[in-house]
Amino acid sequence: MPKPKRRCDECESLYFSEASQMMSLCPECSHLLYDYPNCQHKFENGSCVNCGWDGSRSEYLKGLLQRHNMSDAELNDELVFLEGRMKKLSRLKEVKALMSEIAPPPLVMVAIGCNWRTLECEGARDGLLDLKVLLNESFVVRGEIPNDLTAKVEHARPYLLSDYLLRGTASERRQIGLILA
Ligand SMILES: [Zn+2]
Ligand SMILES: [Zn+2]
Repeated sequence: MPKPKRRCDECESLYFSEASQMMSLCPECSHLLYDYPNCQHKFENGSCVNCGWDGSRSEYLKGLLQRHNMSDAELNDELVFLEGRMKKLSRLKEVKALMSEIAPPPLVMVAIGCNWRTLECEGARDGLLDLKVLLNESFVVRGEIPNDLTAKVEHARPYLLSDYLLRGTASERRQIGLILA
């Protein structure tokens, strides 16, 4: 009898339901995203005989894996790059004002993510930049910065650093670990 299969929400590969501890992620993605034990993959005819994963990768996980494979020096370079990009934001003052409502002074803001939402966003009037910052080594906050100056800079619900580390990916934890080291 064929084993029941499901499709992974992240990589869209089919996988054997019984091989994964998560409802909608294959063993590979649940390992990378949530640190569940991975399958000892054994590929035959384009998919793993143990879990059914076909080797697909989402764009998101491709990016995360890059960070998994980065050395401390490369991770540092990334932080320096993000910091530089954040400092050049034309709306940095507004961002700082917003963030100082979350964390008490003196505000120490470290950029851990600073990316245009899509490739077309840079320079586009309706473009958006996603910023993620570590505040005072205590909170992680995502901010949304519209190019359109009449639209407000906004932030999502702040995470306590401990919650962020608990829910975050191994890659996100590694990035924070390097900042706090
Ligand atoms: Zn998957
Ligand atoms: Zn497998």
